[in-house]
Amino acid sequence: MTTPEPSVVYRYNNGLYVNLTNRCPTDCIFCIKKAWKMDYHGSLLDLAGHEPSAREVLALAGQEWERAPFEELVFCGYGEPTIRLDELLACARLIKTAQAAPLPRSLRVRLNTNGLANAVWGRDVVPEMKGLMDSVNVSLNTADPAQWAALMRPLPEWAAQGFEKVKEFIRSAARTLPETVATAVDNGAVDLEQFRALAAELGAATRIRRPLDDAASRGAAGTPPSASRGGVKP
Ligand code: SF4
Repeated sequence: MTTPEPSVVYRYNNGLYVNLTNRCPTDCIFCIKKAWKMDYHGSLLDLAGHEPSAREVLALAGQEWERAPFEELVFCGYGEPTIRLDELLACARLIKTAQAAPLPRSLRVRLNTNGLANAVWGRDVVPEMKGLMDSVNVSLNTADPAQWAALMRPLPEWAAQGFEKVKEFIRSAARTLPETVATAVDNGAVDLEQFRALAAELGAATRIRRPLDDAASRGAAGTPPSASRGGVKP
């Protein structure tokens, strides 16, 4: 049996997803990477320590485009894309300035994130995304700070201020970018009305998704894979 190659890009629904890093400042309770052994619907997302350059990402995405065009490029892997902010922005900038042929500059670019970028980088990074990200989906999950910490299990350095930083990120994104969506996993324990109210206060749209680690999301026999736009990150 041959060992599968690590996937930097992988297809899901109508998008091409980019697996930029395996590093993450959270250890979300609903993260499926351990249970699924770093596999996602047949793609091995364990980068084995090799984090791709922007040029490498775009070369692979270009090959996929020539095989069959996709509707959007989504930064979302088993890891937090904004940990590699420079490469993330470089990829988007090359696309939006028509320097990533055959990818068209009109290609929609989306970021799926846990929203901790401002905490990690110590500044508001959202203005740097203006004109580059068409959409950000932020895994907010709850309106309750204690529940956020229990669900997201952030590294100790972001345990106290993390929730406020995520809210700050969403508020800034909603002011700056064309589309900001706060997402939540419906695990039965979250007050979804309060979640929706907080998202509205921050200026974001909302999307509720079921846990990925259920039969439908796994694509069990007779069940289509999840129709969620989310990819691996809630
Ligand atoms: S779901 Fe995403 S943000 Fe949460 S631990 Fe997994 S990779 Fe990190």
